[in-house]
Amino acid sequence: MTILNADLHCHSVVSDGTLTPEALAARAAANGVELWSLTDHDEIGGQHRAAAAARAHGMKYLTGTEISVTFAGSTVHIVGLGFDPDDDEMLRGLLATRGGREARGREMAEGLAKVGIRGAFEGALQYVGNPDLISRTHFARFLVETGVCADMNEVFRRFLTPGKPGYVEHKWASLAAAISWITRAGGLAVIAHPARYSFTANEEWALFLEFKAHGGLGVEVVTGSHTAAEYVEYAAVAREFGLAASRGSDFHSPEESRTDLGALPYLPGELTPVWELLAHRIQ
Ligand code: AMP
Ligand code: MN
Ligand code: MN
Ligand code: MN
Repeated sequence: MTILNADLHCHSVVSDGTLTPEALAARAAANGVELWSLTDHDEIGGQHRAAAAARAHGMKYLTGTEISVTFAGSTVHIVGLGFDPDDDEMLRGLLATRGGREARGREMAEGLAKVGIRGAFEGALQYVGNPDLISRTHFARFLVETGVCADMNEVFRRFLTPGKPGYVEHKWASLAAAISWITRAGGLAVIAHPARYSFTANEEWALFLEFKAHGGLGVEVVTGSHTAAEYVEYAAVAREFGLAASRGSDFHSPEESRTDLGALPYLPGELTPVWELLAHRIQ
């Protein structure tokens, strides 16, 4: 049976989403998702719950995560799919990657205090589901809830992006390490939402070349973070670099996310879906 409605990118309370793995599974199943993956940032603590919930709804499942990587001085996200969720090297690598988040969060709060926004660290913590994973999203929720900004987009634009008062430079995993953790654990590495990075054409080329050289095999083409024009653009890039294509909503929350689970267009037919290369890893 050919799978069309795969959703291989979303977030639960284990990272910066607002739903539990079980609630996400129910929502994905209700939306007709055939193959699902929960891809929390730098964390795989929700994988066993997600797999069990998928099974309960009769959905196929691939393990997942979205690893924060520093490449050419910017943050890039690498999605890992179909790896062993109990792999030691992967677990240690992710633990180290999320290790600096609390100190970073405190520094972000100091930056915000300087422009008159007090108590942001404690405020953000109210929205955190996993104390190990304090993210910019949690700060953004606090700034919206307290009326400092009208929506998440405004928070990121005014406060949480490079050069803004609440932004703190951070060194994440290396591209080589992230791909190695994923592939050595039996999984497949995917460049997440490539249109979202502010790279020059040369930097983007270098990212794709190095990604391939380290054993990366996939790229997100149809994602909630891309426009329809970007689906077409990155379908061509996938073909050019001989990469398989992935599809995922990047769903975080019913209140905040524009794209629901399973609601995107299907992958263009001429591409190889990543799940064809992962048939042996589907649960
Ligand atoms: P962090 O890993 O702490 O740097 O947080 C990154 C997260 O912030 C991403 O995974 C998104 O969920 C969220 N994010 C980034 N930019 C925006 C934006 N413009 N609007 C809403 N959420 C955003
Ligand atoms: Mn996120
Ligand atoms: Mn991302
Ligand atoms: Mn994501």
